[in-house]
Amino acid sequence: MTGAPWSSGVERGAAGALTVAGVDVRDLAAEHGTPAYVLDEADFRRRARAYRTAFEAAFGAVGTGVDVYYAGKALLTVAVARWAREEGLRVDTASGGELAVALRAQVPGAEIGLHGNNKSDAEILRALDAGVGRIIVDSLVEIERVAQLAAGRGVVAPVMVRVTTGVHAGGHEYIATAHEDQKFGLSVNTSSGETSPAMTALLAVLERPELRLLGIHSHIGSQILDPDGFEAAASVVLRLRADLAERSGVLVDEVDLGGGYGIAYLPGDVALDPERVAKDIAQSVAGVCQELGTSLPRFSIEPGRAIVGPAGLTLYTVGTVKPVTVAGESGDFVRLYVSVDGGMSDNIRPALYGAAYHAEVVGRTSAAEPVLARVVGKHCESGDIVVHEVQLPGDVRAGDLLAVAATGAYGRSMASNYNMLPRPPVLAVTDGAARVLVRRETEDDLLGLDQG
Ligand SMILES: *Cc1c(COP(=O)(O)O)cnc(C)c1O
Repeated sequence: MTGAPWSSGVERGAAGALTVAGVDVRDLAAEHGTPAYVLDEADFRRRARAYRTAFEAAFGAVGTGVDVYYAGKALLTVAVARWAREEGLRVDTASGGELAVALRAQVPGAEIGLHGNNKSDAEILRALDAGVGRIIVDSLVEIERVAQLAAGRGVVAPVMVRVTTGVHAGGHEYIATAHEDQKFGLSVNTSSGETSPAMTALLAVLERPELRLLGIHSHIGSQILDPDGFEAAASVVLRLRADLAERSGVLVDEVDLGGGYGIAYLPGDVALDPERVAKDIAQSVAGVCQELGTSLPRFSIEPGRAIVGPAGLTLYTVGTVKPVTVAGESGDFVRLYVSVDGGMSDNIRPALYGAAYHAEVVGRTSAAEPVLARVVGKHCESGDIVVHEVQLPGDVRAGDLLAVAATGAYGRSMASNYNMLPRPPVLAVTDGAARVLVRRETEDDLLGLDQG
């Protein structure tokens, strides 16, 4: 059963239980309790390396360079930031808190980016004081604020302008629309031929001596399985770069193509192959620059999910198991509701946008016939679903260990304390040994915030 969507270190051991990098999940549960996030460190490192080497090779072959930023919002702990850095990645942050983690991990400021559509003055100042390599600005008012704050500090802030290209991607397709109706970025499009918001912002940055314009940033979506969207967006950004050069005489050095590289969540899903997508994008941008008669910029990308998603699983203990008779189109059928000791507080994605996951009973093997099951949490919310539909052994019962695959990204980082549930620990498993990266929250942690 090993292979996607499980991390590369996952196997079924001799006794039928799942092992991660040689550690039996029953031992993990006994020692650390459930629910728990389990990260396969070698798998994380392998994916980080795979993205970096694939993009360096492909962009090197067309004559330019590339930096890979790990998108910390997917999961950022001090150890994870160190792993990323040790594998030659930089780190993208989207808040003062994420920036604090990267700095605690001793990622050099110059290798950190700061994102956000509503950065506070405190966040901007912290980034300037840390000497971050780039602040990705998201609006005209923010350009003004960053310039003023940089002037106050007597520094020049390195900035990229986040633009929206009209290309949106996610799942298997991409769509291109002229107008944007979302909070991020500045549109490259205009209704009547006047200067676009993106161009206006780029020109505004060039006018401020407190700002250094590094380049243009575009992020088109998440869980993208078709590289065409990246190519379409890159082409729009490169044209904007050429237009800016024509208007201002400045050909910016850098273009960031964002993250969104899709992974396997279910058995049979095919993840984006970094080598193939890197080659496709590199060849496409080289062609566009040749056509425009501009030199190639240096590129950067920001994968988050593709690095950490498949490296993680969530380990739960099964509690209540309840058969529920459901009225279907062709008659009644039974769905087995399998409740686990976590739920929407440790993985909000199924409730938030119907994300699909795969689960297995992992503490033992079973010869029982598989039945249609739904894995649910313990929260006071009927939408508290962990896995909508999955075949589980018919004898699944209280006390069984159940693992959900590919929860490394946007699990712990989006976790909440709904129903006053303490958030699960993040465990790292490496070469037959486990260690705690983030400990389990306690009721004392939660009550410690309550001032009575
Ligand atoms: C969310 C995000 C990413 C990472 O997206 P993944 O789907 O995890 O690769 C990268 N860049 C920006 C600007 C983002 O908002």
